[in-house]
Formats: sequence, structure tokens, C-alpha cells
Amino acid sequence: MTASGSNVDLATWRVEVRRWLAATVATPVATDGPPDFAVFRNLSDADEHTLLENVRAYRRARHDAGYGALTLPVEQGGAGLPALFATAFAEEERAYAVPPSTELISVTTGLVGPAVAMFGTAAQRERFVGPMLRTDLLACQLFSEPGAGSDLAALACRAVADGENWVVDGQKVWSSGARFADYGLLLARTDPDAPKHAGITAFLVPMDAPGIEIRPIRQMSGGTSFNEVFLTGVRVGDGLRVGAVGNGWRVANATLSFERTASGSVTRRKGGTFDDVLELARSLGRAGDPVVRQELADLYIRTVLRAATAGRVARAAAAGASPGPAASVGKLVASDVLTRTGELAVDLLGSRAAADSGAEFAWTQHLLGAPGYRLAGGTDQIQRNIIGERVLGLPAEPRVDKDVPWSALSRS
Ligand SMILES: Cc1cc2nc3c(=O)[nH]c(=O)nc-3n(C[C@H](O)[C@H](O)[C@H](O)COP(=O)(O)OP(=O)(O)OC[C@H]3O[C@@H](n4cnc5c(N)ncnc54)[C@H](O)[C@@H]3O)c2cc1C
Repeated sequence: MTASGSNVDLATWRVEVRRWLAATVATPVATDGPPDFAVFRNLSDADEHTLLENVRAYRRARHDAGYGALTLPVEQGGAGLPALFATAFAEEERAYAVPPSTELISVTTGLVGPAVAMFGTAAQRERFVGPMLRTDLLACQLFSEPGAGSDLAALACRAVADGENWVVDGQKVWSSGARFADYGLLLARTDPDAPKHAGITAFLVPMDAPGIEIRPIRQMSGGTSFNEVFLTGVRVGDGLRVGAVGNGWRVANATLSFERTASGSVTRRKGGTFDDVLELARSLGRAGDPVVRQELADLYIRTVLRAATAGRVARAAAAGASPGPAASVGKLVASDVLTRTGELAVDLLGSRAAADSGAEFAWTQHLLGAPGYRLAGGTDQIQRNIIGERVLGLPAEPRVDKDVPWSALSRS
């Protein structure tokens, strides 16, 4: 077990991490074979299941060694360490053949677990937080709906009180990993006559409850990590309500802020990187081309700026300040770099990017997956709105429906 808290010396801790990884994972990362630049994995359900089990075995060992939720406060089940430690852990991890994480693992440990830790009752924290952080329980995010994405507060999924239970009816969409989840953090409308942000409540819904139907959605990258989730007369006990009735918007905002911070951080590797593009340019004999050099320099500068932005958010978090709206800057810059990395690689490859095997296909997988990160956790445009209004203090977008009861709003 490692020491927790802010008095731990980073260099000493790093040596311990290296020792633990060498003893636990043992296998160094493979340098032969085709590279893996996939942003989303394109797996059959059976392969996804196997991958999840491998990741869970590793995450459990990591959690038990005290390296689970590194930055979460100790009282919420984490190690209470500054974000620099998470970055250091990720750097050390990169040298080992650690099973690649999946959306569902990140949503469980990075979004739903911390949200329950923050808003749940003592009983809920006891029952769910440890098992979620250890990945014994997996949880998806049931927020978006066909008519509520950027305007999430417009959501129409209804939860009606019935004695000690709530009866839920509605449809969710783009629910990453829902087919493999034990629970879903659901936002539902409990008071249609309150203004749209006020009448929402959060629940943890067992994904095997009668009345839940999950249908996979095929993505352009080939995989089916997304799902539609239909809820018909689903009964959820009041003990699974997260936070007060009508307080769901606060739960949603906190969860989205965790998501934006995670998307902007440099701890998770997604797709190819600047170094991979540079290697590609060299292997194609293009690194001396003046135009290519200029594009590489541009990508390098953006990559460094992205790391600096992530560092600033991490330092703010280490100083105890919530990154809040500033997390949107990190998320926006990270999605931009991911997109440009794939575009430059494909420019270099030309028609070879259409090949269906080897290194070329690895870049195709990057290119097809990257746009998803410009949408997930709030689109680029929504991040710009947040930055404009809440970071730069520019005039707010007109919101004519802000104080109108949700039931009085026109919906298409
Ligand atoms: C990889 C990925 C994973 C996801 N995982 C989940 C998940 O697990 N659970 C979940 O609930 N959801 C998930 N989502 C859904 C995601 O939250 C939504 O896609 C996102 O919020 C955008 O909503 P929308 O798709 O309905 O687009 P819309 O809201 O319909 O937006 C359409 C376009 O209009 C623009 N737009 C909308 N409003 C404004 C505005 N006010 N100002 C300027 N432009 C605007 C948008 O930027 C966008 O370009 C995921 C999405 C992706 C891509």
C-alpha cells in the first residue's frame, strides 16, 4: 500500500510505482507488430468482454496497491494525491503492456464513481464507490437523449414517484458501454412544471432491471461502443436516487466537469501522437520536405501547448481549486490536437490511408475515431460558449427558456 496525501515525495513514489509495475505487469510494451492508434476499439462483444475482464484484473490489482483513484480525496475512496502523480503514473505505465482501457472503465472510475462519492448518501458511498473504483461494478452514463445533447437540460426521460419507488420511461442515446454496465447514472425529469434545469433528478439504475432494452449503434470506425437505451416502466427504488430530488443538474454538471478534465488531461493515451506522426514522416522519407516540416512544427507547438494547458488545469486542481469552466479549454485543445494529428498522418499517407492492414490502417482508425472527441462531454462549440461566458466573461447566449416551466416549452 502506498502512502496517501500531499506529503508524498514524487520521485520516491515514482520509484515505487516502477517497482510495482515491473512486479505486477512484468511484460514491457511490445515494439514489434502493427501500431495501435485506435481512438475507439472495433471489437466483437466477445472480444470486448475479454478485454474488459483483462482491464478489470489489472485495475483491481492497481486499486488494491493504492494506485486506483489517485487524485480523488481520501475521504471519497481515493489516494488524495496531486494530479502530477496521475501524470507520473501514466508515464511509467506506458513502458508496460498494460491492457488498454475502454470507455466504460473510464466512465465508471472517472465519472460515475466520483459523482456518487460526491453526491451519494453514506449508504450509497459504502455500496458503490469502492466497487466502482475497483471496477467490480461497471457503470455507464445515461444523460443524452435524441432531443437533448448540447441542450441536456431539455431532457424528457420521466421518473414518476410511486410509493418508495420511481417509475422511469424514456429513451437515452450514445450511452458508451451500456451493454456491459451493471448500473447507469440516469438523469430523469421528476418535475415537468419546474424550469428545465430545476426539475431533473439523478438515479443509479440497474441495467438488468425489467423494462430496459439496450441496442448497439454501429459507428463509422466500425465498432459499437455506443448504445441506445430504452426504458419502459422501469422501477427504481428511492434508495438509488443520487442527490436530492430536483438536484440532478448539479450532479450532471459535476460529472461533465470530471469528463472535460479527463479528456483534456495527458494521462490517457488516445490514438496516435506527434511522435508517431514524426516517425511516419521519416519512414516515408518526407521529413525533409519544407511544407511537411512546417506542418510538423505546427503540430508540435500545439502538442506542447496542449500539455501546458493540461498542466495548468492539473496545478489548479493540486492547489485545491476546482478546474470548473477552465476544464473546457483543456478539452477543446486536446480534441483539436487529436484531430490535427490524424489529419496530418493521413495527408502524409495519401491514398495508402485506405489500406486495410498494418500501420496505414492504424492511422485510418485514428482518423475515423477522432471526431467523436469533438462531441463527447460537450461539443467544441459548447466548450467555446462556456469559455466565452464563464472564463472570459463575454455576454451570455440569449436563453429565452431559462425560467419557463419545462412542460410549457415547445418540443419537436
Ligand atoms: C465519443 C462519444 C461518447 C459519448 N458518450 C456518451 C455517454 O456515455 N453518455 C451520454 O449520455 N452521452 C454520450 N455522448 C453524447 C454526447 O454527450 C453528445 O453527442 C453531445 O453532448 C452533443 O449532443 P448531440 O449529439 O445531441 O448534438 P446536438 O446537441 O444536436 O448538436 C448538433 C450541432 O449543433 C451545435 N450546437 C448545439 N447547440 C449549440 C449552441 N448553443 N451554440 C453553438 N452550437 C451549438 C453542436 O456543437 C453540434 O455541432 C457521447 C458522444 C460521443 C461522440
